Amino acid sequence: TDGRGIFRVYTPEMGSKMRRYHYLLEELRLAMISQNFHLSFQPIVQVDDCTIEYFECLVRWHHPIEGAISPAEFIPIAEESNLILELGNWILLEACRQMSAWHNAGMNNVRMSINISGVQLKHIPLHEWIMTTLSKVGLPPSAILLEITESCFIDASQQVIDNLQKLRDEGVLIAIDDFGTGFSSLSTLANLPVDVIKIDKLFIEQANINPKYLKILNSISDLGKNLNLKIVAEGVELAAQFQLIKKLGIHCVQGYLISRPETSHHVGANVIRNNLN
Ligand code: C2E
Ligand code: CA
Ligand code: CA
Ligand code: CA
Repeated sequence: TDGRGIFRVYTPEMGSKMRRYHYLLEELRLAMISQNFHLSFQPIVQVDDCTIEYFECLVRWHHPIEGAISPAEFIPIAEESNLILELGNWILLEACRQMSAWHNAGMNNVRMSINISGVQLKHIPLHEWIMTTLSKVGLPPSAILLEITESCFIDASQQVIDNLQKLRDEGVLIAIDDFGTGFSSLSTLANLPVDVIKIDKLFIEQANINPKYLKILNSISDLGKNLNLKIVAEGVELAAQFQLIKKLGIHCVQGYLISRPETSHHVGANVIRNNLN
């Protein structure tokens, strides 16, 4: 027992998971100091004509020994330890700097989309933080979009919702990420300060296999359109999935079929090439 009369069972597997957790936590602290992070960018394009609407900025950690560690593994650790506050600061500033550079290079109609964690929503005065960072790099609010997962919206306080509304009034767009997995009720959706719905890739993956998922995908898309929201399908990997998305009238797609996340050098070079064509 642990001294409070609670009996705990430790399996060897739990032990190794705990060791990995503590190891990564220490390494994350070091990585914050040595700046071992960079950003990658994945385009979200219009279904009609494949023009780029915005880029989602995705953080990458290159560990000196382990190599690339997935954000799916380290972001939860950064959140539990509040390191996400410091990391998230860096991500926002870096993403805005990059967008500003692209704007100056003539890429004016493209926005930058930034993932915001629920921990950031809770601890940071959102409106002030975003507006200060934008003015630091000289970027208009209309150049960015914030992605907040559906489950974070459900937990959000009225203060957070008000902050998001204030940002929207300035021109920042707000997206619900991983839509369909967070179990928000449809009535709350009507009242949330959002512009974009990103349908979780689970639905895209399953729609051509399982008729139930196809029905859900269809309803989400109708619902979004009726509420005047822009709809994005995530995780589009196959031509058949793209065709289905098009048939359902979903506005935008993101996925390996269009492009994988790329470094800023790649993105810049591609855009310059397209402009020359
Ligand atoms: P997310 O926000 O849902 O991001 C989309 C994820 O789907 C990315 O994984 C992206 O690389 C991946 N993806 C894009 N297209 C496809 C596709 O066609 N097929 C498949 N199978 N996957 C695709 P990534 O970069 O590994 O990020 C995983 C998660 O980590 C993100 O999910 C997000 O929750 C979190 N994350 C990543 N970067 C950041 C960040 O800068 N800040 C915060 N707070 N979280 C981040
Ligand atoms: Ca996202
Ligand atoms: Ca997502
Ligand atoms: Ca996700």
